[in-house]
Amino acid sequence: MSPHNDKAVVVFSGGQDSTTCLFWAKQRFSDVYTISFDYGQRHRKELEHAQAIAEQLDVPFHIIPMHVMNELTPNALTKANIPIEEREDGLPNTFVPGRNHLFFSFAAVYAYSVGARHIVTGVSETDFSGYPDCRDDFMKSLNVTINLAMDSDFVFHTPLMWLDKAGVWKLSDELGALDFVRERTLTCYEGIPASGCGECPACRLRNEGLEQYLRSKGGEQ
Ligand code: ZN
Repeated sequence: MSPHNDKAVVVFSGGQDSTTCLFWAKQRFSDVYTISFDYGQRHRKELEHAQAIAEQLDVPFHIIPMHVMNELTPNALTKANIPIEEREDGLPNTFVPGRNHLFFSFAAVYAYSVGARHIVTGVSETDFSGYPDCRDDFMKSLNVTINLAMDSDFVFHTPLMWLDKAGVWKLSDELGALDFVRERTLTCYEGIPASGCGECPACRLRNEGLEQYLRSKGGEQ
């Protein structure tokens, strides 16, 4: 990383992954900014939660309105009356085509405006639902495209890319943030913080990952 520019923008939702990324970024960069996208999430709590965490960790927080996504493609992440389930092609119906592509492009515009070179996101190939715009190839390609588009030298960081959920918990532990992430973040599709409803796919993934990590650590709870 360049010693001349130590600013980073974290794409932040207040969930386990992006909160772990925020701790990761705070350890590496002197100036860290956070942004969230408002696309009509099922639960407004998500944005309020993200803002509260950003305040607690003393980093600037900015919401970018993206309601147009909702108009273009109604889906289970934004419409409370659509149940979350798997589609015929194997992707969950929470998939929003092009979402990360657009969100990360907006993140880069924001990073440009605050003079940040580094952009951090919690995307992962390993433990998720096969969203194409979470993959490493896509992120590398997007990084090149954005640098060409803005004549810039942004660096996209994806510290969770090859981690499963247990690995993400391990990373948060290494960053000294395990308890914070466990108690303060919101991952649940039902909008319940910490260990959540325990039933939805996001809760199951999160809680199974935590159990797995704690077991591997030696049964410590
Ligand atoms: Zn849940």
